[in-house]
Amino acid sequence: MFGIVPKALWGNVTDVDAENRILLATRSLLIVHRGQQRVILVDTGCGTKWTPEKAARFAIETDADAIPKALSSAGFTEGDVTDVVISHLHFDHNGGLTRWVDKPGGRTELHFPHAKHWVHRRHWDHAREPHIKDRASFLPEDFVALEDAGVLEMVDGDTPGPPFEGLKWLVTHGHTPYQLHPIIGGKGDSRLLFVGDIVPTASHLRLGWVMAYDMQPMQTIAEKKMIYRQCLEDGLWLAFPHDPSTGGVVLDGSISRPIVSRALEI
Ligand SMILES: [Zn+2]
Repeated sequence: MFGIVPKALWGNVTDVDAENRILLATRSLLIVHRGQQRVILVDTGCGTKWTPEKAARFAIETDADAIPKALSSAGFTEGDVTDVVISHLHFDHNGGLTRWVDKPGGRTELHFPHAKHWVHRRHWDHAREPHIKDRASFLPEDFVALEDAGVLEMVDGDTPGPPFEGLKWLVTHGHTPYQLHPIIGGKGDSRLLFVGDIVPTASHLRLGWVMAYDMQPMQTIAEKKMIYRQCLEDGLWLAFPHDPSTGGVVLDGSISRPIVSRALEI
């Protein structure tokens, strides 16, 4: 998770187990857009399609009720979700899109069959034919059923326009080609950016702390600077996908050395 950063440094900011693994969340972001009557879920975690052997590799703990429970606490069911935003198709962000119908390895069905599923077209193409470096991160059973179900809403271009009022897109490439980040808020009123795997946890706010998973780590650093600039100018919240205790932060300080001015502990 920390690339070339020595363990002598990253080991000071997080606990580590005997297998050198650290505790991570696989967070979803729920956006309730009352004006547009939309219930929007950004990413769906690891899901439940794991054999005990594969789950043990990453010490994945699955909870089939996690998303239904979280939706329920906000007064919704899975059937109420109108939009699912897929930041990128890595298994730890999309396992919750589908479940096995009969048996593991067989057919899958969608958790949110009535929702539009937003993904960048170029990222979709990459996930269908990944590079040898990142192919282990894509599990076709998480997403091929979306195409058959006709629920995909492909996003195009480097600077795609807003899908609807109150939501905008940012596209990055450092972690994976055409990662899609939703920004909540209208023109001149940006409030929260789902920063995805460009800054997976609060520990990764340091510019040079980038993941070994990243396809283009120097691009990640440039994209972090661009995001921090926007955060410092607009007071934007950055929502993390993987921090186990911090849902998001607002930054202060400088682009090269940001400090956390507000944090949402979860
Ligand atoms: Zn990823």
